[in-house]
Amino acid sequence: MGTRGREIVGIDVSRVIDLLNKAYADEWLAYYQYWIGAKLVAGPMKESVVKELVEHANDELRHAEMVAERIIQLGGQPLLSPREWFDTTNCGYDAPNDTFVKSILTSNIKGEQCAISVYNDIVQEVGMEDSVTMNIAMQILQDEVEHEEDLQSLLEDIEMMLKR
Ligand code: FE
Ligand code: FE
Ligand code: MG
Repeated sequence: MGTRGREIVGIDVSRVIDLLNKAYADEWLAYYQYWIGAKLVAGPMKESVVKELVEHANDELRHAEMVAERIIQLGGQPLLSPREWFDTTNCGYDAPNDTFVKSILTSNIKGEQCAISVYNDIVQEVGMEDSVTMNIAMQILQDEVEHEEDLQSLLEDIEMMLKR
């Protein structure tokens, strides 16, 4: 990281790197959960659901890139092995054992709600002491809020349809 860029970080850099590596593990697991979910999902409104899941998978991969770049800027090392993802994650991984649309959407909604809490906590903890990290966390937070909303409204539509 550039010397001046490092000097302006007013909190413990290793703490920020730890927070970011935990979020990094979450992003890869979320990416895969969406990606495999999009392949397997079955049930009503399948086409719209697949489209949304694929979009979200791409967003999560982009988030992983954003987080990895910040970790490197801070002089840290993004997790090197997928083995570490499960030990490091905040939000875990929910395998799509049940491929019915409602189950897939419900577990991804849970994941998004966890992600919203994680990034909100990062924004709160680093605050203006590390405004670059805060800004990245805010951008991702905005996407996660949108993801939750998208999935919840899809689920509502499907439930409405199934009740008629
Ligand atoms: Fe994400
Ligand atoms: Fe998301
Ligand atoms: Mg969306």
